[in-house]
Amino acid sequence: MDEQYIKKLQEATLDFSVEEFLQKMYQEFGSGLVLVTGFGASGVVIIDMVARLKLPITIVSVDTGRLPEETYTLMEKIQEKYGKIVQLQFPDREEVQSLVGRKGVFSFRKGLKDRKECCRVRKVLPLKRILSGYKAWISGVRKDQSVTRLGANRLELDIQRGRIVKCNPLVNWTEKQVWEYIKKFDVPFNSLYENGFKSIGCAPCTRAVREGEDIRGGRWWWEDASQKECGIHGYCEISKQDKP
Ligand code: SF4
Repeated sequence: MDEQYIKKLQEATLDFSVEEFLQKMYQEFGSGLVLVTGFGASGVVIIDMVARLKLPITIVSVDTGRLPEETYTLMEKIQEKYGKIVQLQFPDREEVQSLVGRKGVFSFRKGLKDRKECCRVRKVLPLKRILSGYKAWISGVRKDQSVTRLGANRLELDIQRGRIVKCNPLVNWTEKQVWEYIKKFDVPFNSLYENGFKSIGCAPCTRAVREGEDIRGGRWWWEDASQKECGIHGYCEISKQDKP
């Protein structure tokens, strides 16, 4: 894929609703399209839309080994409600063993470089392995989630993963729209949202959001807001590096 292809697809889908956009992506990529989710609020909305549209899109998630129990509970609820088994991708055992053996189980607290290394081993590389078999992926990225995501687009060229297409159907939605949809369609969501969490990742790197913080303020709360990406979405400079 190249920039020209993305531009054409962007123009062709400019006025499409989110549902029309998802249908078009499936027409375009068929079984080469995969939905990747960490079961955040946007992710469950997209899962629900895909189910209502009866699109046979594979759903995958990266199990970092450090997820909160509430996220596993949600996975079960999603599977019960939609009858769809979520494919879990795990980090490479030897890479995790090496990291933990060298730096301990809380290496990510030591500094940005170490945190990125943990994210790389537990999230970025497993995702890379998943996406190596696909032409396009769907994510729940929205512009309003953080300063790092303000420049996100509905369609992007994912250069990091072999120039495949990244689709962000809810990129222009607000947090309010997401929650209105969840309530309207009775979509299962992570119970941590009821305890002040606004963005949910691994348990030791996520806490409830405080007054005045943005949606991702509870993620890696000890870091500068401009670096709060794990590397999966590649919206800040350090995320674009393949190695820490
Ligand atoms: S969010 Fe934290 S525990 Fe999870 S992969 Fe990144 S640094 Fe490691």
